[in-house]
Amino acid sequence: MSHNSDLLTLRSVSKSYGVVPVLHGIDLAVRDGEFLTVLGPSGSGKTTVLRLIGGLEPLSAGQIHLDGKDISHMPINRRPFNTVFQDYALFPHMTVAKNVGYGLSVRHEPRKEIARRVAEALALVRLGPFAERYPAQLSGGQRQRVALARALICRPRLILLDEPLAALDLELRRQMQEFLKSIQREIKTTFLFVTHDQEEAIGMADRICVMQAGHIRQLGTPHDLYYRPNCEFVARFFGENNLVPGMLGPVTGGLRSIDTAIGRLICSVENQPSLLNAAEGAAAFAAFRPEALHRVETDGTENHLTGHVANLAFAGASTVVTIATGDNALPLRMRLPSRAGGSVLAAGQRILLSFAPHEGHLVLG
Ligand code: ADP
Ligand code: MG
Repeated sequence: MSHNSDLLTLRSVSKSYGVVPVLHGIDLAVRDGEFLTVLGPSGSGKTTVLRLIGGLEPLSAGQIHLDGKDISHMPINRRPFNTVFQDYALFPHMTVAKNVGYGLSVRHEPRKEIARRVAEALALVRLGPFAERYPAQLSGGQRQRVALARALICRPRLILLDEPLAALDLELRRQMQEFLKSIQREIKTTFLFVTHDQEEAIGMADRICVMQAGHIRQLGTPHDLYYRPNCEFVARFFGENNLVPGMLGPVTGGLRSIDTAIGRLICSVENQPSLLNAAEGAAAFAAFRPEALHRVETDGTENHLTGHVANLAFAGASTVVTIATGDNALPLRMRLPSRAGGSVLAAGQRILLSFAPHEGHLVLG
């Protein structure tokens, strides 16, 4: 995959509906050939970003560049993009083949060429035998694959997908996630995929762009966001981080301490290096993952915590242990392999815990 050059860039893109601002100066570079996922809660502006790129809505401010050229005002039908929506938007009175070939027939491509490319696109989405069916005769997953074939047939530079799998049940959604990802690898077309489901984002994306309230909060690989959240929102939204509020303490050898209700914790700031210079006493959070917490036998280690087991939740391979810590019984989550953890711990028992400084991160609210 060539991930070196930028295909599409958004520069200080803002959007208001009437007087209501919904996007606030978005900067985003989509790399050629990547699978980029836009992740955020409902109402965060994901669909608006796609609509601006697709040309369905005018920008209020900023520019969009394709291959370095300003396309901010290019009409929708001249943009080399195609969109796949959640509701498929297939023509019910047309066969699968006619639906898929529609984009080429309105361009008056030769009939033979259309037939050849329809067959090619249907083969790609494994729907060859369904060419003469009507949309009502297909399952939800098959309709979604028709919509994808229809988007691919015009050989767009970029495919925009707006929560295309949201209407599918869990099992089918998982299959379609793998399917979409494998097709994207095969054809190497750039995918910009919107979802509010973090698991879906982690499983499919080369990179994830996290949005909140019309802002991009963090852009990085799933690994980056999972292990190095750069703000409280990402730390909360992404998985099940423990977040302990406190006040910044002194810097100690490239790490930074934070004073919290459960004691002084030492954490990394590699996710947010500016925190090394932030004033002592400033409000922040220590964020650490449930799998970073582990039991220790004796006191005295760094990031030493004591508490009582409040709850054990069996989750198959792992067990989530809730531990009440400190005077206010602040609940922390620890995730242990079920064989090791679930069987040896009992509710109510006292427990000593720790996490390594480089597995904790300081984030600002
Ligand atoms: P998401 O796709 O992340 O759920 P949207 O981009 O659809 O978010 O919406 C972002 C914000 O813009 C929301 O507050 C939504 O209510 C508002 N919005 C979206 N479309 C319109 C519109 N056509 N007119 C007015 N407000 C809109
Ligand atoms: Mg949306």
